Amino acid sequence: MEKIKFEDLLINDNIKKAVLEMGFEEPSPIQSQSIPVILSGKDVIGQAQTGTGKTAAFSIPILDMINPNEKTLQALVLCPTRELAIQVSTEIRKIGKYIHGIKTLPIYGGQPIDRQIKSLKGGVQIVIGTPGRVIDHINRKTLKLDNVKMVILDEADEMLDMGFREDIETILSKTPEDRQTTFFSATMPKGILELTKKYQNNPEHIKVVRKELTVPNIKQYYIETRSSNKLEVLSRLIDVYNPKLSVVFTNTKKGADELVSDLQARGYFADALHGDLKQTQRDIVMDKFRNSTIDILVATDVAARGIDVDDVEAVFNYDLPQDEEYYVHRIGRTGRAGREGISFSFVFGKELRKMRDIERYTKTKLIKHDIPSVSDVEEKKAKAFFDEVEKTIKEGNLTKQANYLERFMKENETDYSIFDIASALLKISLGDEEKEEIIEEPSRKRENSKSPREGMIRLFINVGRKQRVQAKDILGAIAGEVGIPGKNVGTIDIYDKYTFVEVPKKNAKKVLEKMKNIKIKGNKINIEQANKKRK
Ligand code: ADP
Ligand code: MG
Repeated sequence: MEKIKFEDLLINDNIKKAVLEMGFEEPSPIQSQSIPVILSGKDVIGQAQTGTGKTAAFSIPILDMINPNEKTLQALVLCPTRELAIQVSTEIRKIGKYIHGIKTLPIYGGQPIDRQIKSLKGGVQIVIGTPGRVIDHINRKTLKLDNVKMVILDEADEMLDMGFREDIETILSKTPEDRQTTFFSATMPKGILELTKKYQNNPEHIKVVRKELTVPNIKQYYIETRSSNKLEVLSRLIDVYNPKLSVVFTNTKKGADELVSDLQARGYFADALHGDLKQTQRDIVMDKFRNSTIDILVATDVAARGIDVDDVEAVFNYDLPQDEEYYVHRIGRTGRAGREGISFSFVFGKELRKMRDIERYTKTKLIKHDIPSVSDVEEKKAKAFFDEVEKTIKEGNLTKQANYLERFMKENETDYSIFDIASALLKISLGDEEKEEIIEEPSRKRENSKSPREGMIRLFINVGRKQRVQAKDILGAIAGEVGIPGKNVGTIDIYDKYTFVEVPKKNAKKVLEKMKNIKIKGNKINIEQANKKRK
């Protein structure tokens, strides 16, 4: 899985500099796949889920291909909403920060048209507009399309849903025939394919599917535990769940080696798989794992890539992965071949935030799992023991043992019952060490664990500062959609990627229902009760 870098994309150095400054370390899959094709001049249909970086996938080639010295409109981007037009325009400006002489303008309804006309006269090369307003300008002849080289339909599926098809066709038919036409969309409904046939020239369909993202047959848990207790927690989980084979992930090779010695010291059959091992050594470890000579494989991400063993019943994220994609790769080691799998991620303190990123990326919720107690482990062991007893009784052939037992009972002066003897055997077999319970302190201030005021309930919304959400947007949405006066809405805490808002308990249901399908700042939102699933 060789990663493509921005350097590999043969784009202008000024663009590279800007995107790196924006914190983009490497192109996202839709970017690395579509940028070269767009740069080659071909028409493209780019399909990838929301949040995969489609904006930059077309903004980078636009900026690379237009001529800053020519003061005419060269690229036209159509967006479904005002918010998106502004967002895309802002991104293009950021990416084009170091290219001189480029003017970008968002045009949308609701803004005084005179101001837009004035700006358009200043020699704008890139316009990002909503279809209605673009047509308006075309009719007024304030937007001249004769020199347009690229047309991009962003969020094309959304535009069709919103009934812009006719407008789009009108606009496309007024642009030069030899233009390059690109569609970006999360989905590809029939309507888009029809537009494609009509307005694109032998387009290349680039589809990025994150196939490993859907992992329905893996139960994903998280456990809050501090580092010093991880080994004990891991041991208990393995004892309670007794998975046939387990893969435990650590973030470092050293961590893997240390964990292996700790597990071995506790009597587990474990071995490490990491990048320091030679290929032959790795093969030996994998063979042992496949034939169950060891049943716990402790691995780092790189080494575990491509491990394909059907019987892995559990994956443990002993350390939470740095990268969300790694999480998906890791847990994908279980639940293979249609079997059920289970995964546990150990988190503590601020790692909970990282975990939320993972949840958003995978669009799943990790379920909180308590640390198994000492008695959970004991019960589980006792049950396994009695299963074994039952099996042995059923197999029969116990005459010799029965004779020993009889002799023992006769020889003893005190009268032991069979019950006494069996209990003692159980103790000998299972041990009876006094293990200390782990009592975890609640982790440091969890952002979402503030308790709401009396009569209020705290809701979680998956948009935040990154989406340029402000308190007034949240208030506006609640007031507008649900009809609760702003003064009845409680504290609003906006974080980078999400927001918490307090609403009166009696309105909560209505808020959840009414806000389910709305958008805030152009983003479809997910709203739910905070703290519900994770205490
Ligand atoms: P989409 O249009 O596919 O829904 P966006 O273009 O809005 O997604 O991008 C989603 C987020 O990802 C934005 O905050 C954007 O700045 C960021 N982003 C885009 N490309 C990259 C990248 N290569 N590396 C890191 N972040 C990126
Ligand atoms: Mg987008």
